[in-house]
Amino acid sequence: MSGSDAYSLRSAICAGAQALHTAGLTPGRSGNVSARAGSGLLITPSGLSGAAMRPEDIVAIDAHGRVRTGEQRPSTELPLHRAIYAARRDAGAIVHTHSPGATALACARRAIPAFHYMIAVAGGHDIRCADYATFGTDALADHALRALEDRKAALLANHGVVAIGTELEDAVRIAVEVENLAHQYLLLLAAGLEPVLLDDAEMACIRVQFADYGPARHSPQPPDREDP
Ligand code: ZN
Repeated sequence: MSGSDAYSLRSAICAGAQALHTAGLTPGRSGNVSARAGSGLLITPSGLSGAAMRPEDIVAIDAHGRVRTGEQRPSTELPLHRAIYAARRDAGAIVHTHSPGATALACARRAIPAFHYMIAVAGGHDIRCADYATFGTDALADHALRALEDRKAALLANHGVVAIGTELEDAVRIAVEVENLAHQYLLLLAAGLEPVLLDDAEMACIRVQFADYGPARHSPQPPDREDP
């Protein structure tokens, strides 16, 4: 990766972190964003709000997990990001949030079922909730990977959300949509309504439609146009 490519990727990660913070998905100093870069990755630093993030704050990590450049410490969720890149060749970027609605459901360890067709943006007929493990641990990464099997997003019990994308904008968009879906699902639950779930055949059909949607891309997410 050339120097200018690396800088533009740092800028994109920074812009993603800022957008997530502005949207309220990473309250305080929570959340982190990374992108695959050569044999390593670039990740947001530990303990810095998305609002204050600059491209030079982004931390470069080599293939062995060591800090390659930068004076900042990497996010404490580096083990989660590294495990996902190692296991999922389709992951070009990862977003982790503590977005309020999805985190509320994660605290009840409740998966989000197919109450709306947009659940398919996460790659399946539901958004699973990974088993609990302490933040920053390899156990959390293991649980997250299991919940992410055949999926692009998962809830993390008593913690938040992880979303993966082929590209950074996909991961950000999926994280935003997970929060939107979580909010809608919470509205249903709060109203005491029982959602009518879409069956697996319909959800499979939706995923095929998403795959054919818009310009040629690798993500099943509808790109920059109105949702159908
Ligand atoms: Zn977290």
